[in-house]
Amino acid sequence: AESQVRQLQKMEAVGQLTGGIAHDFNNMLAIVIGGLDLMERKLQRGDTDVSRYLVSAMDGATRAAALTQRLLAFSRQSPLDPEPIDLGALIAGLTEMLERTLGERVRLKTSLGGGLWQVHADSNQLESVIVNLAVNARDAMPDGGRLTVEGGNAHLDEAYARAEDVPEGQYVLLAITDTGIGMSPDVVAKAFDPFFTTKTVGKGTGLGLSQVFGFVRQSGGHVKILSEPGRGTTVKIFLPRYLGDAPVITRQRASGQVLDG
Ligand code: ADP
Repeated sequence: AESQVRQLQKMEAVGQLTGGIAHDFNNMLAIVIGGLDLMERKLQRGDTDVSRYLVSAMDGATRAAALTQRLLAFSRQSPLDPEPIDLGALIAGLTEMLERTLGERVRLKTSLGGGLWQVHADSNQLESVIVNLAVNARDAMPDGGRLTVEGGNAHLDEAYARAEDVPEGQYVLLAITDTGIGMSPDVVAKAFDPFFTTKTVGKGTGLGLSQVFGFVRQSGGHVKILSEPGRGTTVKIFLPRYLGDAPVITRQRASGQVLDG
């Protein structure tokens, strides 16, 4: 009997999830249809000044596409295409896009020196993880603020490894810090749950951080949220150092720049 109750609870949960997604998706389609409808009426009157409606339809369609992208990424089971990655180069390539995502009121600061170890991961997924975190940071700073992207070589020692249940060893740390609203311990505890969101309908899917978690797990890494309400949030992602075919590292970063847990 107990398993039947559990099964029912599961079905109820799945019903709520799909209902939530369908609802969000429907809202986005409503924006598209509304925009196109108004555009059609204007055009019928011979008024060709329709760019406003075009922009709003595009906006709805773009958001709907982003939602299905996230669902797809979320449902993927294994890394698509892992390859050796230089985090510094990857972030440098993303900077312009991040600045656009963050808008004018959030300043972006990056701190990625040379000599960063390589990691082995799917670079598209890693990019989407970083963008997800930047979007969350932007949402947490409605009045503006600062987003810091830091990279460093890190050694997770035995005590930390035991406490966090992650293999001891050498990692590359990617730390993304905002000066936003922060999270209560309650929210931190649930933040990685699929579909957990505190955002209003249509704004949040609750899939961003669970995608981050899935990616990190698939890459053999470790993720940690440090947050203080009213002060801000740091998301730390540790990815194992890749030694495969990488050239021998002869130059390590100054110890002052080495970041650890
Ligand atoms: P979504 O952003 O769609 O809500 P996420 O899984 O990315 O889904 O995040 C889940 C929740 O975690 C958010 O709704 C928010 O409450 C909280 N959160 C995530 N990132 C941050 C952040 N940088 N600052 C404050 N709260 C955050």
